[in-house]
Amino acid sequence: MQPIRTAEIISVGTELLLGETVDTNSAFLAGELAAAGIDTYWALRVGDNLERLKLALSGALERSDLVLLTGGLGPTDDDLTREAIAAVMGETPEIDAELEAWLRGRFSSLGREMPERNLKQAWLIPSAEALPNPGGTAPGWLVTHTAGDRSRLIVALPGPPRELYAMWRDHALPRLQLSGSDLYRLTLKTTGIGESHLADLLGDLLNEANPSVATYARADGVHVRVAAKDDSRARAENRAQPVVARLRSLLGDHVWGSDEDERNELIASTLRQRGLTLASAEGPSGGLLMATLA
Ligand code: AMP
Ligand code: MG
Repeated sequence: MQPIRTAEIISVGTELLLGETVDTNSAFLAGELAAAGIDTYWALRVGDNLERLKLALSGALERSDLVLLTGGLGPTDDDLTREAIAAVMGETPEIDAELEAWLRGRFSSLGREMPERNLKQAWLIPSAEALPNPGGTAPGWLVTHTAGDRSRLIVALPGPPRELYAMWRDHALPRLQLSGSDLYRLTLKTTGIGESHLADLLGDLLNEANPSVATYARADGVHVRVAAKDDSRARAENRAQPVVARLRSLLGDHVWGSDEDERNELIASTLRQRGLTLASAEGPSGGLLMATLA
């Protein structure tokens, strides 16, 4: 199978579309994919609806080498991720004896009887390999989809974040042959300049693809992120260097920090270094300044 270069994330669950649950799973997976040098061009959220899930999945398979699904692996009728994958693959799920034994064992070790509806968590289709879930009752699926000479992978992961993290790191990621490229990222944090002025200042730098430069307006000023990709981290950093130097010279004193730097901490450490103290008289902010300093 050719190495994976592009990925897409589908988060499943009506609660995500009602704003009841924040979709932290896709943020986690997007970060993991970026760190592995995989391009994620699409991420979508779909409710618990079989037709729309099938539509989302078949679209994703046309666009991306790897499709990561999260959620919808529970035992109830509205958990439809397995059904959607089976339908798109044109395969029929069957109970896998090994998974069933594991699932029944899990319930009996907890001193509970297994509701029959949980049996669908022991389903597999011929193209799927089960991914163990030590923290829950829903095994994941790793599915290989082949059309002509093109192979795609589907990975279905559970919704509960703790189960998802463990399954991703211990069972999904080690089975994936990711592209092997590495990403270098640096964020410069600025103050005293608005995002539009900054964009004017940076001009064509913002149109480059590798390294890419992007601006983000944040509470502590506008952040400028540089990202470069290459086949090793050192090469990616080398590739980014000229652009970083050019940014630093264009931005000058507007830059007050980078990456993890926090304004409050920089102020406090500068005061400490110089042996200075600070007094404040605070009115309308109700103690906010002191709380920040503390
Ligand atoms: P499910 O596997 O769809 O039954 O999801 C089980 C639980 O996992 C949900 O009730 C949510 O609390 C949580 N969950 C599902 N999807 C997400 C997501 N995308 N981000 C964060 N939490 C999620
Ligand atoms: Mg759900």
